[in-house]
Amino acid sequence: MMSQEIRPGVTLTGPAEGVTQDGRGVLHVNGATLFVAGLLPGEKGRVQVEAVHPRRGYAEARLLQRYDESPERVLPRCPVFGRCGGCQLQHWSAEAQQVHKRQVVADAFRRIAHLSVDVEETVNLTPWAYRNKIEMPVVQTSRGTQIGYFASHSHQIVNVETCPIAQPPANRVLAVLQRLIRQYHIAGYDETRQNGELRHVVVRVGERGREVLVILVTRVRTVSWLDAVVKTLVDEIDGLVGVVQNVQPVATNVILGSEWHLCWGRSFLNEHLGDLHFHLSAGAFFQVNPPVAEKMYNAAQEALQCEGTETLVDLYCGVGTTTLWMASQVKWAVGVESNRQAVQDAQANAVRNHVANVDFYADTAAHFLMRWVAERQPVDRLLLDPPRKGAEPAVLDAILTAGVPRLVYISCNPQTLARDAARLSNAYRVTRVQPFDLFPQTAHIETVVGFEHR
Ligand code: SAH
Repeated sequence: MMSQEIRPGVTLTGPAEGVTQDGRGVLHVNGATLFVAGLLPGEKGRVQVEAVHPRRGYAEARLLQRYDESPERVLPRCPVFGRCGGCQLQHWSAEAQQVHKRQVVADAFRRIAHLSVDVEETVNLTPWAYRNKIEMPVVQTSRGTQIGYFASHSHQIVNVETCPIAQPPANRVLAVLQRLIRQYHIAGYDETRQNGELRHVVVRVGERGREVLVILVTRVRTVSWLDAVVKTLVDEIDGLVGVVQNVQPVATNVILGSEWHLCWGRSFLNEHLGDLHFHLSAGAFFQVNPPVAEKMYNAAQEALQCEGTETLVDLYCGVGTTTLWMASQVKWAVGVESNRQAVQDAQANAVRNHVANVDFYADTAAHFLMRWVAERQPVDRLLLDPPRKGAEPAVLDAILTAGVPRLVYISCNPQTLARDAARLSNAYRVTRVQPFDLFPQTAHIETVVGFEHR
């Protein structure tokens, strides 16, 4: 029950007893639950209620004053931390973030799946300068063109000079572009008037830091400053391998349009994961933190316990990174992915790496697996890495029907993971739960879970 005294504008004082997944302090005052950004567990604050959600059982409040300091509090490295929607946890030590992410996963299993599981320590390699890609909107504002990230849950641009979770080459490009935008008076995109020229800047770093690819997303094909910008990037950016223009004329949140022009160099990066080599075309999905992704794929491989005789089905396989990774462990690996472009990339990646025992299918996971199981095709091991909403019920039903002996679920959302684990738990025992911090300083949590048929 929410106390009557909790309404917008009211100020209250209390300690944060817990924390939400995205790092907001949780206060229990006068029988109400309040979420407050900027307060860590154990810290006491005076807060002002901003919004009350009686049906969801909590209110949101703003921190007015903090009275003490958690030993886990650290100075955020980024000057726009708290305003920028990119990071939520920079004020919390890397060690505390690891403990937190492990706890969130354990809580999800307990509360949502009613399963008590041993969650291993979160794997984290480097908490800063890890991202191999930045994707920044460029926006026309009353203060001129700004390039950065949107504030959380908004289209308010926050100007970013340098991003401490991005790899240094990406920040070097950002610094040059900040300067060129002023020098050439480049107009950022105005989504209400639908004018302006530069909409997004995407910088990708490959071959572990030595290759840089810049994608300039413009609203129209012809922009006066393009040649000068390309020339400056070529002169000033070490490791630049290509500059690509993408034209996105449509009024949409989708960053990339369908029209591509190579301005200089080549339009792809080289990158590797383990011994596998990949060509990343400008618009292709790839893991943003490859060293942690490698650890994660190793954990998945261990949990699958393959002997070399099995057929493995890899659902939601993207460009086939996991399928190819596991292929050497099994007789036959089958990747399934609904995005046709990704399937083509996966097939090309198989050829590039001389992996012959794989097949990729462009299909939805549910449709594919139901048919596969109905046709009594073999499936001795199964890997699934669904998007945030988790696996469709039909996928879980097909897994249960087939009685797959071992499976591994790679999840980017602990809540849907726990929901799906509960559905499997009558027939399956959880063998391993391992969180990975693919995205330090942010609230995202990646988890590898092993399941074994009972
Ligand atoms: N396993 C890959 C990518 C995982 S991201 C890797 O580690 O690199 C999730 C993928 O699921 C995306 O590529 C997305 O296109 C795909 N996807 C989303 N819904 C799907 C569905 N219903 N069926 C199959 N694939 C789907």
